[in-house]
Amino acid sequence: MNAELRSESVSDFRLLINGRLIPGAATFNVINPATEDILAACPRADRKQLDQAVAAAKAAFPAWAATPIEKRRELLLRLADELESESLAFARLLTQEQGKPLFAAAFEMRGAVGMIRTWAPMDLRTEVLRETDTSRIVRQRIPLGVVAAITPWNVPVHLLMLKLPPALLAGNTVVVKPAPSTPLTTLRLGEICARLFPPGVVNIITDENDLGAALTSHPDVAKIAFTGSTATGKKVLASTASTIKRLTLELGGNDPAIVLDDADPKEVAPKIFNGAMINSGQVCLAIKRVYAHDSLYDRLCEELAELAKRAVVGDGMDEGTQLGPLQNKMQFEKVKGYLEDARERGKIIAGGAPLNRRGYFIPPTIVRDIPDDARLVREEQFGPVLPVLRYSDLDDAIARANDSDYGLGATVWSSNPDRAYQVALRINSGTVWVNKHMDLPHDLPFGGAKQSGLGTEMGQEGLEEFTQAKIVNLAK
Ligand code: NAD
Repeated sequence: MNAELRSESVSDFRLLINGRLIPGAATFNVINPATEDILAACPRADRKQLDQAVAAAKAAFPAWAATPIEKRRELLLRLADELESESLAFARLLTQEQGKPLFAAAFEMRGAVGMIRTWAPMDLRTEVLRETDTSRIVRQRIPLGVVAAITPWNVPVHLLMLKLPPALLAGNTVVVKPAPSTPLTTLRLGEICARLFPPGVVNIITDENDLGAALTSHPDVAKIAFTGSTATGKKVLASTASTIKRLTLELGGNDPAIVLDDADPKEVAPKIFNGAMINSGQVCLAIKRVYAHDSLYDRLCEELAELAKRAVVGDGMDEGTQLGPLQNKMQFEKVKGYLEDARERGKIIAGGAPLNRRGYFIPPTIVRDIPDDARLVREEQFGPVLPVLRYSDLDDAIARANDSDYGLGATVWSSNPDRAYQVALRINSGTVWVNKHMDLPHDLPFGGAKQSGLGTEMGQEGLEEFTQAKIVNLAK
């Protein structure tokens, strides 16, 4: 253990409301999932503070919307610079609150900075849609007002950067609400925002999972940018009805990987393993079920099991750790339930039981010979437990891959990319990768099909989601 890394200061966190860093109405404890020790006391906003945050954002909106986009862009770039200069401290805090290894936390911070720098130069031009002798018709993109940005606990900093920068660039003001088990890095970000942005433009409140509904149904919130589970997403969707709020939902996934009969098991196994176990399986786009052709099924299972047995699981602050703990106790208990399902319905060939130590550790687990209707196959496990299923007919494999309420991502693995591409075209999901995984260029759109989401994040489309298209039609 590196003592210097351990001594990262984790005290004195504040809400950001109307430009002021203030204590919450109460506090709650944030737990380090690798040790189960209390990491920090986090401010807990109450309903009154939520209303103050929304009121501050509403009051700040007209001036911010009228601020030239060049100025908004410049402030975003300064945010990126400040975040970059503090990124090591952020990464340490992120590892301690989220559990991911320090190298992964540093990667998340680089991604977050890169994301802001991708948004900043983007533009929202007024376009001429038709010009004739007698009329001109243009489309202007106007900001919406107050945006509620709600994030989950798996990739808290990076996912916020799919929402906060485009919302601000487009001229909206924002109320951020992170997940209660990973609020600290977002609150630290609030300290930078307090220095940079005019009061009320960025507000950050933290809760104990009790303010989400009040925020999403608030009459003065114009748009909700939500990332989280499909179950919560449905509640958020319902809450928008009374005031017809704009909405982006990035929800759960149960991403299939189809391994064609011409793939080399030795070559694809590490890529599939990493795609499934990244962040200990706690990634919306992680590979969550594998369909392998009969002819290579046994070999692929063996390769995956070997990789699982060799993986180094431990405290993310320890050098050499490949996979950290599950992020919170609830998720730990949930994944233990999938282990039970795997034991009853399939055959566990690596992993299978929580580590006998403090912390929410479950080692990478490979499960073979499990039926399609097992819970581990049907549901989103969001943990390091991977079912490997057998197929002999490719049409059947595609049908089984598509037989899900989810449709976030998918992968196809083959030594023949053209053949794999044809398979990719038949999969019903927001993204399909061929012979790679998790390649998400910052400037290209991303979204979920079916119950994995609504709307788009990233890219020009992701920016336009934070605007209202307005048509101006004038007679000449
Ligand atoms: P969650 O749905 O439990 O919580 C997400 C956020 O919603 C938290 O901030 C939470 O406090 C808040 N919330 C809770 N109840 C609410 C309510 N009634 N109204 C509004 N907000 C409310 O999700 P989680 O467990 O934190 O995250 C894991 C889930 O997120 C997984 O399903 C994962 O697939 C999904 N996810 C999706 C993407 C994507 O881009 N599609 C990315 C990351 C995670």
